[in-house]
Amino acid sequence: MARGNAVVPAMEMTKWFDTNYHFIVPELSPDLKFTYASHKAVVEYKEAKEHGIETVPVLVGPVSYLLLSKPAKGVDKSFSPLSLLGKIIPIYKEVLAELKAAGATWVQFDEPTLVLDLESHQLKAFIDAYEQLEETLSGISVILETYFADLPADAYKMVTSLKAVSAIGLDLVRGEKTLELIKNLGFPSDKYLFAGVVDGKNIWANDLEASLEMLKTLESIVGKEKLMVSTSCSLMHTAVDLLNETKLADEIKSWLAFAAQKILEVNALANALAGEKDGELFSANSAAQESRKSSARVNDEAVQEAASALRGSDHRRATPVTARLEAQQRKLNLPMLPTTTIGSFPQTMDVRRLRREYKTNKITEEEYVEAIKEEIKKVVKIQEELDIDVLVHGEPERNDMVEYFGEQLKGFAFTVNGWVQSYGSRCVKPPIIYGDVSRPNPMTVFWSKAAQSITTRPMKGMLTGPVTILNWSFVRNDQPRSETCYQIALAIKNEVEDLEACGIQVIQIDEAALREGLPLRKSEQALYLDWAVHSFRIANCGVKDTTQIHTHMCYSNFNDIIHSIIDMDADVITIENSRSNEKLLSVFREGVKYGAGIGPGVYDIHSPRIPATEEIADRINQVLAVLERNVVWVNPDCGLKTRKYSEVKPALTNMVAAAKLLRTEL
Ligand code: GLN
Ligand code: ZN
Repeated sequence: MARGNAVVPAMEMTKWFDTNYHFIVPELSPDLKFTYASHKAVVEYKEAKEHGIETVPVLVGPVSYLLLSKPAKGVDKSFSPLSLLGKIIPIYKEVLAELKAAGATWVQFDEPTLVLDLESHQLKAFIDAYEQLEETLSGISVILETYFADLPADAYKMVTSLKAVSAIGLDLVRGEKTLELIKNLGFPSDKYLFAGVVDGKNIWANDLEASLEMLKTLESIVGKEKLMVSTSCSLMHTAVDLLNETKLADEIKSWLAFAAQKILEVNALANALAGEKDGELFSANSAAQESRKSSARVNDEAVQEAASALRGSDHRRATPVTARLEAQQRKLNLPMLPTTTIGSFPQTMDVRRLRREYKTNKITEEEYVEAIKEEIKKVVKIQEELDIDVLVHGEPERNDMVEYFGEQLKGFAFTVNGWVQSYGSRCVKPPIIYGDVSRPNPMTVFWSKAAQSITTRPMKGMLTGPVTILNWSFVRNDQPRSETCYQIALAIKNEVEDLEACGIQVIQIDEAALREGLPLRKSEQALYLDWAVHSFRIANCGVKDTTQIHTHMCYSNFNDIIHSIIDMDADVITIENSRSNEKLLSVFREGVKYGAGIGPGVYDIHSPRIPATEEIADRINQVLAVLERNVVWVNPDCGLKTRKYSEVKPALTNMVAAAKLLRTEL
């Protein structure tokens, strides 16, 4: 189901709210019959119990499960999976009965959809669901858990009135209004509050004194007996154990808490609340908080001033995009339907070994530079032979599109073992942004210059954008995300201008993760889009009209944020599209005006399949039916680094052939 095979495509995977964890979206149809198939929750409960450990089994709650599902293929789009509530509740009852029989006294239902802007009929589904479950709940208590934001007031009122629920879990870290809600709307005297005061998602040590204060306030409202200390969400979204970190500076380490440390924090807070405060631990914690505030590692006044000077102003290139494109075309002289790729070329075993040997000092810097230059030469030659119009250097020197930049920026730290599950056995190791960000030295100029020097065709400079660097890192919690983003934008701006100064005429600034930083609540989205798009423009508004700024995005479902994308004011945008031409094109068909260059990916690089020339030509034709022909670019969906040369070469051959075929027809 996750991988698909030759005949059945893989099911859709999507991010669990705004985390980097992915789940497979259930596909449901009206005639579906649910059965109780996997007894995993019960088996694992028993396994822990055999070891003498009493656990609380955690299940996705029935309403969130249905709200996160979608209609199966072939089912009318108007079908609402929520209509299956009556069919799925009996299965939950079976699970509850079995857990009860196994000895469980508590069970947790995760209902994080409650933090979204739900409609009243969706909220009502919770009332129905938990009323139906009520009779099964004698002898076993339910914690209804929410996280990642505060609840809207109507959801809060609904949840606190659910009779079947014995405890409610609330996020007091990211739910900035949670405390106000509890103060203003009260908390039911018959329920426990699981107070998520320890940040389960980020990697910072909790400010224990501040949390203790908050817990005392909560205690005065809900009562001593009813207050439980908890993390704000599951610990699967943070790194595992700080003890595994051997390379972080001690000072930085003192500011951090990974999952193992967070559990100690929860315990310390609970003990303190019960009158057994561990004085030593609390004062060490306070000292660390102080050192973080005043540390020279964190503070760079010049950066702070430069970044705060940006707020309020607009930062836009003076010339409108259409006129810029003309100026660029006079210099670049590209054919109709210009071809390009997204940046990376296959990261072969040899390339990976090279980087590893350099990192572990097995080869000298000179040897490394020579070998990477050789690789770039190879990639350039292939593209020239394929007759691609705008070239890339292939990114062989980069391990990861964020890590590569983070390693060269001030204010970033890297863990050796700070892995977080992304899906299946896949993990990511996000950098930690701990301080003010600046760029001591150029980061990509050396390689871009080398690549441009061996070809007469335009060579794209290749950068990761500020918003993507931000969204794929563990971020500071001592200043707003926007502030950190502006600082990164200034660093990237320096790089953009250095690239331009040494003759690079096309610069791509990848914003693969712009969309995923979108806040869960609609009321907060406009503000985010405003500073995110502003950051992107800060990075590139200083270039000449003749310098062409590209950006790239890895998703096509941006119909709802299309105006922000236009507002980024890039000259050319390349986007993932090959899985869903329709979705992307519909927005333009509906009349959105788009004057910049646009390259909707013409084939799927996530699959080893090699698309035929005619098939690619077909796709381009679909695009041409909707968009002006002089703005359309031809490119794959995304970077080629996970593919083999035996796939990339024929696929790109067909792509260029398709573009040429259509040029003769235009
Ligand atoms: N330039 C990057 C690459 O080609 C972009 C990757 C991405 O969009 N995720 O690898
Ligand atoms: Zn991409």
